[in-house]
Amino acid sequence: MAHVQNLSKHSQKIVVVGAGIGGLATALRLSALGHKVRVIEAAPTPGGKIRTLSGANNPIDLGPTVLTLLPVFERLFSDVGENLHDHISVTQQHILARHWWRDATCVDLDANFETSRDNIRNAFGEKSATEFLSYYSDTAMLFDCFDEPVMQNANPNLPAMMLAVMKRPNVIGKMRPVSTLEHGLAKQFSDPRLQQLFGRYATYVGGMPQTAPALLSLIWQAEAKGVWTINGGMHKLARVIETLCTERGVEFTYNCCVKSIKKQEKTATKVILDTDEAIDVDSIVFNGDPRAIALGHLGHDVQNTVPNITHEERSLSAYVWGFDAKCSGPDLVHHNVFFADTPNSEFRDIALGQMPNDPTIYVCAQDRGKSVAPPEIENFELILNAPPLTQRQPEQKDFERCNEITFQRLEQFGLSFHGKRARQHLTMPQDFEALFPASEGSLYGQSPKGMMATLKRPKCTTKLNNLFLVGGGVHPGAGIPMATLCAELAVAEMTRRQILT
Ligand SMILES: Cc1cc2nc3c(=O)[nH]c(=O)nc-3n(C[C@H](O)[C@H](O)[C@H](O)COP(=O)(O)OP(=O)(O)OC[C@H]3O[C@@H](n4cnc5c(N)ncnc54)[C@H](O)[C@@H]3O)c2cc1C
Repeated sequence: MAHVQNLSKHSQKIVVVGAGIGGLATALRLSALGHKVRVIEAAPTPGGKIRTLSGANNPIDLGPTVLTLLPVFERLFSDVGENLHDHISVTQQHILARHWWRDATCVDLDANFETSRDNIRNAFGEKSATEFLSYYSDTAMLFDCFDEPVMQNANPNLPAMMLAVMKRPNVIGKMRPVSTLEHGLAKQFSDPRLQQLFGRYATYVGGMPQTAPALLSLIWQAEAKGVWTINGGMHKLARVIETLCTERGVEFTYNCCVKSIKKQEKTATKVILDTDEAIDVDSIVFNGDPRAIALGHLGHDVQNTVPNITHEERSLSAYVWGFDAKCSGPDLVHHNVFFADTPNSEFRDIALGQMPNDPTIYVCAQDRGKSVAPPEIENFELILNAPPLTQRQPEQKDFERCNEITFQRLEQFGLSFHGKRARQHLTMPQDFEALFPASEGSLYGQSPKGMMATLKRPKCTTKLNNLFLVGGGVHPGAGIPMATLCAELAVAEMTRRQILT
């Protein structure tokens, strides 16, 4: 990056549409290169999906809770001459997550894989421990094989993937190219509970184990490489980047929507706001869902400048609870998963466009996993998978039903939260659609269904030479490290074009 910075000839006037993590990381990088950047954000605060609700103690996180691939964030800061650790305090979680089944099985995956193996041996026996070790090394090999040529490549393609595989031919068998994740796991683990546990990682990119390719087994390696929490909450990451941007002269306009983008021939020329202000630009970076452009929500001038993804299957949505309460019951850690009784029944319900009857429930006890004891009233985020709006339209009784399903189910594990929850404590697929227009409530862009899904995602470049895309709906995909990496790839591409012109 420092090398690129020296080569940058002209200061550009750039508008970033959206202050999600991808937009913020882009604005920070561009401002560090000396560009004049303005960020236009529809919401009143930065962060996009990194949202909060006010609570009795700290704000309650309503978005991401699992911070992985820390080096991606450390690089963002170091590339702009800062040290991440001077700005936020992170705690590595030794327990990656605690997993519960109703047959009283409880197993912790640990940052140390030998501890995970021992925990698995204690819970499921020697055979499962051996299967875990082989899964661990297979998935590590897959992650390493595809990290550079695919995830860190702005324009991955089939030849690049094949070349990566040819360099390490022993990964072919581990990829299980014609299997789904569900089938791959059935071959790997004899205990169905471990198939269920590792199948759940497909949901990290909005997929389902029965349709995601077996190759997505590598996602779990992002967690295996370490899970961190941010002291004070995940939203601090967005706030800190916003502050660094402001210090570098980035201008933020909140509560304001970009309603269209104008072009002349192959060049985007103007951004039009909902206030009718027209801003002349040298370049634009769009951090919303690229489907919004493809549907014409940003105007006809740019509608056909991105791939026509309007009919591509969407990734999962979610029912997300955020509240503070006293709780009683099992010994929670920061990340907890309470599994459905019938593995994959929730995914069958979702595939049929139904609210899952027997859901797996993720519980983030946000005040746990620190050196100090949690307060009496703690912050919680609970997540249940849900179909996107393309598969299921909201119904009047959804709040009551979700309330019943969630808390009755957790009671069966002995977990109780005191007090009642109101509508404002639950974000449903229709709320996500309202917050992230054209997403259909999907939280991770296109569905990762099928072996070629990665290659079908929009890339950071468009048919216009100065309109770029960043964020979870764009390659390399969803999750805050990937959206941050996307910003890195997009800025490198913008700089390369600027140097060439
Ligand atoms: C409940 C939940 C849990 C998650 N858990 C995790 C996790 O544990 N770990 C993890 O890594 N990831 C997780 N994710 C995924 C992660 O949050 C997202 O992939 C990432 O935050 C997406 O960032 P983004 O850059 O795509 O921007 P987004 O967060 O999608 O934000 C885009 C922004 O653009 C704005 N915008 C769009 N159109 C316009 C317009 N026309 N004008 C002005 N503004 C506009 C929107 O208002 C929004 O603020 C989770 C997501 C959710 C919802």
